[in-house]
Amino acid sequence: MVKMYYDSDCNLSILEGKTVAVLGYGSQGHAHSQNLKDSGVRTIIGLRKSSQSWAKAEEAGFEVYETAEAAKKADLIMILVPDELQPGIYEADVKPNLEEGNVLMFAHGFSVHFKQIDPPEGVDVIMVAPKGPGHVVRTAYAEGQGVPSLIAIERDFSGRAEQYALAYAAGIGAGRAGIIKTTFKEETETDLFGEQAVLCGGVTALMRAGFDTLVEAGYAPEMAYFECIHEMKLIVDLINTKGFAFMRYSISNTAEYGDYRTGKRIITDETRREMKKVLGEIQDGTFASEWISENKSGGRAKFLAQRRIQSEHLSESVGAELRKMMSWLKK
Ligand code: NAD
Ligand code: MG
Ligand code: MG
Repeated sequence: MVKMYYDSDCNLSILEGKTVAVLGYGSQGHAHSQNLKDSGVRTIIGLRKSSQSWAKAEEAGFEVYETAEAAKKADLIMILVPDELQPGIYEADVKPNLEEGNVLMFAHGFSVHFKQIDPPEGVDVIMVAPKGPGHVVRTAYAEGQGVPSLIAIERDFSGRAEQYALAYAAGIGAGRAGIIKTTFKEETETDLFGEQAVLCGGVTALMRAGFDTLVEAGYAPEMAYFECIHEMKLIVDLINTKGFAFMRYSISNTAEYGDYRTGKRIITDETRREMKKVLGEIQDGTFASEWISENKSGGRAKFLAQRRIQSEHLSESVGAELRKMMSWLKK
């Protein structure tokens, strides 16, 4: 079992007199920086001059600098720009400004684990990764709660890397919920597997296949959308708050019986074998090198073509019409 840490295990005072630079002010960036500031940690923001977030960060009360300048001013540098841009930004703006004793930080292990970033000796390399999207990291903190987070130590030059990771995690509110220690390898591989096989790739393919089956059998696409796509949230919310058994307690006995009878015919031994293959391609770097070369090839043609093809699926237009009927979905 994993080791858990809470606020009482964290010592925020290790960050006293230190400056944290948060590079990027997107989903995670705005949340980490605002929480750290409210926790009393001196936090500055690093962005491109042209960034639309520049004004937003200033309005939130931050000193904002160009990425290289922020990295130079900081003792701890948290890289919260998109993973595929990290190697370029690191080479141009961060690496030239790293000093011995600095702490280089990430919220996902991809760049370091797959050696897209190879930090010099003399810096600590750590991860603090909230298990939730940025807006939840911020709103939970503002309500006196926190989002559980992972920490990992790739390099401990100072001998205090774990203390830095715990202090930063506490600063963003994670110590109120629980902090789990992992490794860059474990976080990266499980994160990629989860999003590909289950959360994103698996779930959307399952919903689409169910939708297509009903539509091809002559049922109304609107009915197919409700049953196979829209209602997923009701079930997932039950699982999310209380687990599988409670979800099954909440649904009808008919639905529960059908669940036991049919689930194993959908996720078959063949599917499980394929999941193991997918995991293998993540572990041996096949997936990473494919995605890295897609980004290097300029234009990301295959990626963008898939985005377009997927967005043209019948379920998208049917769903857009049905969602207009649901006033509570409108922001
Ligand atoms: P994002 O796309 O929301 O934000 C990226 C930000 O980077 C932009 O808002 C912009 O301010 C900045 N940026 C873009 N190009 C830049 C450049 N050239 N120079 C400087 N700044 C630039 O990204 P995110 O989702 O917050 O992801 C950041 C990191 O957090 C990633 O490593 C990701 O894997 C990790 N993470 C994300 C989530 C999540 O739910 N979004 C959860 C856990 C970890
Ligand atoms: Mg991920
Ligand atoms: Mg039903």
